[in-house]
Order: sequence, then structure tokens, then C-alpha cells
Amino acid sequence: MPLALIATPAPPPVPDRPDGAAAVLRAALRGGPLARTTISRETGLSPAAVSRHAAELMALGLLHEPREQPSPPRPGRPRIPLDVDTGRHLAAGVHIAVPQLTFSLTDLRGRVVAQERVPRVATPAAVLQDIAARLPGFLRRSAGGRSVLGLGVVTGGWVDPETGTVVENTALGWRDVPLRQSLLSATRLPIHVDSHARALAQAELLFGAGQQARRHAGRLGQEGDLVHLFVGNVVDAAIVAGGVLLRGRRNGAGGIAHLPVPGSSTACPCGASGCLQATVSDRAVLERAVADGIVPRPELGLLMAAAAAGHGRALDLCRTRLRLIAPAVALLLDMLSPDLLVLTEAVTLHLPELLGVLHEEVAARTRQPVEQIVRPSSFGPGALAVAAGAPVLAAVHQDPLALRTARSA
Ligand SMILES: [Zn+2]
Repeated sequence: MPLALIATPAPPPVPDRPDGAAAVLRAALRGGPLARTTISRETGLSPAAVSRHAAELMALGLLHEPREQPSPPRPGRPRIPLDVDTGRHLAAGVHIAVPQLTFSLTDLRGRVVAQERVPRVATPAAVLQDIAARLPGFLRRSAGGRSVLGLGVVTGGWVDPETGTVVENTALGWRDVPLRQSLLSATRLPIHVDSHARALAQAELLFGAGQQARRHAGRLGQEGDLVHLFVGNVVDAAIVAGGVLLRGRRNGAGGIAHLPVPGSSTACPCGASGCLQATVSDRAVLERAVADGIVPRPELGLLMAAAAAGHGRALDLCRTRLRLIAPAVALLLDMLSPDLLVLTEAVTLHLPELLGVLHEEVAARTRQPVEQIVRPSSFGPGALAVAAGAPVLAAVHQDPLALRTARSA
């Protein structure tokens, strides 16, 4: 008999596993509403384990049975599908960027429920005071009676989630800023600090391109490998291998700000010249746009509007940026061979038709199937608001039953 015709018997269902509840919640997140039997098949958990975890998750307000039931379900034969309950809990977050702070609330599916932006004040101490002062009002106005599970605080550069510290963010000029410690007195919410590149990588895994990465991976039962590249005022990468975020020593993985850009002589604050961040950052592009008389002020919105309106030199500047990013993208593809590389960057966000410029330039430098692999952020202009809440949501989806402990504490 040809080998291909020998059917592999399905493995017997696993009665339970330590992350069983998380697996049930994740299945509902990916495919909900789903019947318990489907969840059992997808997770490999026994039907009894699925039912038990579903009950636990429903008690915590994380899962619900969305469909109206014509009659009470028969005991012992629950067939009503389960879905993530997005009506009970929210994640709060604040994203700290060079021009502004973005406060956000996201639901358990990572959808932005509310966001407010305010200009950033100068020093780290003033920013932290500002966050502490504004957060209660924002939550009161926007949470609408839903429970808030935690506060995410994210920014660019080298961020250490364990200590809750910004180790270095050169665009802000911050070094060793203890975000979590400073905000502890401002809120009773658990505080999750992370870099926005990693936060968005987690959001892509949970709510965005993760499905596509898994399909590309095509390795049964395995999460895909995904690289997230953030290009704004900072340039950072985040690397996910087999569904797990690579953190590196002192959470420093993905710091590619000082990769050399071929042909660039732009001076970098690090003392070298031609570094990636110094060459392609929003600030560098806007300085050029102002110097060339394309926009009157260094505002990203003005440059994007000019390019969208067909302003030739604005479009040239946008294309140039993508060409300058291309060598770093090609390097990441060659080094890591990911199933997907997701780019969060203003030009491809506002002018998706220019993605082809990046594809072409990257394809000239690598043999990887660039058009299949390189795609823009799943979250569009709301990416920073999603990033802010993502560390809270990632924690909940990773260990949902911790909520029970937190409640009883
Ligand atoms: Zn440098």
C-alpha cells in the first residue's frame, strides 16, 4: 500500500493540560462562536475538560454563550456555542510617543473601544504625572461600567517588562525611566510595561496576522514565526518564534536602530553615521520634507496628506523611505525566514499602494517570497491604541485563570 494512503490514527484526546483554560479561550478567540465539541477537537482536550474550563471562563466573564436560546439547554448536553465575551472586561493602555500620549481602552478581541490623544509634555517625570492625572478621568468617561483588567504602558526603544523600565528610548531622550514604579501610586490596576514593537507583535499573534502566519507555517499544531518591524520615530523589531516572543538578555532583543543603511551618511546620536533609525525615522523624513519646502511644519499628517493628494516630491520622499528600509527588511527575512513580517509604518499605513515599492526593493535583495511574507499592520491608524492595551490582553489570554486569583486576592 502506498505510504500516503495509510491513515494516521487521531491521537486520543488529552484529559487536561496545565494551560487548558488558555487553550479553550484561544480557540474561541480564533474561531468563535464555536461548539464545545469543536473546541475539544481543536485543542485536543477531552470534552469534559473543555466543559470544565468553559464554565470557569464564563464565571470570570471571559467567555459567554452568545446565541439566544429557544429553550433551556438539556443538562449534560450543552450544544450552545461559546465565544469570547467582549462586553464585560476592557484593557486600559497608554502609549508614549514623541509627539503625543495615546490613552486607549480595548476589548478582549483587541478592538479599540475608546482612545484619547494629548500632546506629550517634556520630561519623564512630567509625562508620568500627566498620565496619573488623566487616567482616572479617561476611564470614567470611556469604560462605561465595564471592568478594567489592567493598564498597559508601552513605548519604543529598549523596554524591560520585568522591571517595568524604559532602559533606553533615544527618540524621547529617556534612559532608565521606571514607568511601573512611578505609576504604582496612581492606579490600583496591575501595570504591564512593554515595548510597542513587542506589544504589536503579540497583538498580531492574537488578533491580527497570527492566523495567516499559522496557515503559512503549515506545520501541524504549531504557531507560525512572525517578525514585527516598527518604523516611526524609533525603529524596533520584535521576533516571534513558534508563537513565543523572543525577549533576549534583559529584554533587549530586536534592537535594530543602529543597523547600517547602505549609502546613508546621516549622523546618529550614537556617534556613528548611516544608522537605520537616524536615516528613516519620522523625524528624519519630516526634517527633509520641511527643508525641501514640501510641508511648512514637521508634522507627519501634513506629509501624508500631501503625498495622498499626489504631491510629487512628497511621494518621492515616501518612496525613498521605503527603499531605505528595504535592506533591513531583507536582512530580517534572510536571518529569520519568518512566515510573516508585519510592518507598522506611516507610509504603508496611509498609502498602501506604495507597499509595492518596498516589495520590489526587498525582493531585489533576498530570495524569500517577499510579496507573501511582507504585509502592513493589521490595525491601521489605530495601531498605537492597540499596542497600548496589548500587554494586558496578552497576559489575560496567556493565563486567564490568574484573573480568579487576582479577584480573590
Ligand atoms: Zn546609531
